[in-house]
Amino acid sequence: MKFVVLTIFPEMFGPFWDHGIIRRAIEQEKIFASTLNIRDFAEDRHQVTDDRPYGGGSGMVMKPDPLAAAIRAAEQDAPSAKKILLTPQGRVFNQKIAHKLASYEELVFVCGRYEGVDERIDHDLIDDEISIGDYVLTGGELAAMVIIDAVTRQIPGTLGGEDAAAKDSFANGLLEHAHYTRPQVFEGKAVPDTLLSGHHEEIENWRLESALMRTLMKRADLLRNKDLNEKEIEMLKKWSRNIQDILNFHHKAHKE
Ligand code: SAM
Repeated sequence: MKFVVLTIFPEMFGPFWDHGIIRRAIEQEKIFASTLNIRDFAEDRHQVTDDRPYGGGSGMVMKPDPLAAAIRAAEQDAPSAKKILLTPQGRVFNQKIAHKLASYEELVFVCGRYEGVDERIDHDLIDDEISIGDYVLTGGELAAMVIIDAVTRQIPGTLGGEDAAAKDSFANGLLEHAHYTRPQVFEGKAVPDTLLSGHHEEIENWRLESALMRTLMKRADLLRNKDLNEKEIEMLKKWSRNIQDILNFHHKAHKE
């Protein structure tokens, strides 16, 4: 996968490319990452990339000419790329979009600054608009990093275990199960016995139950939209029966 990021602050990406799984993915040539400085495509002496908005008002707008030249240069480097504009007005990024983007061979990210980019760029040179959430950042760089990070996890071989991404939260419509590591007892709290049992099937059941419970408690909306399998439905029914028993017991006790 090739990522090309267009930005007026390419230095922001150095530390990002240089750490953790992104760094390893670059070293192993699972991903190829580069930046293009939009300023380098401004033709005036001062390499200006912004200008005042037509119609007046506060703030500056990214000029279309350097941006268009930068996008065309990126196209030379990544001819099949989907070109994504980072904008709070785009579709909101999620795991499903990350998974889909990982199926492309090349992605170009256009990072806005100021009040955003000239509308004509958006219309003619961009394939997709993505937001990382309903809030406004000062620039698209952090948004590009968020997306590149999430997409990289989806590329086979970038994580230690082959199925690690498949077990991540949201991958199967559930939040991921609880995790424990050493020490076995921490501040009086012990690791659940099942996880120490070495019994593979029981551990898998425990993890599924943990994932279901967390999703129910933290993000019940996910369960409403998920295609539950038989095992998951059975677990939910068991809890529902237990809760009903408890409620019946208290209801009776209340009456007496
Ligand atoms: N005036 C614009 C608006 O209200 O829609 C916001 C511009 S913002 C200050 C500057 C740049 O930051 C945008 O062009 C975009 O590239 C980036 N940006 C801000 N919030 C973002 C978000 N939630 N997701 C993705 N990019 C964002």
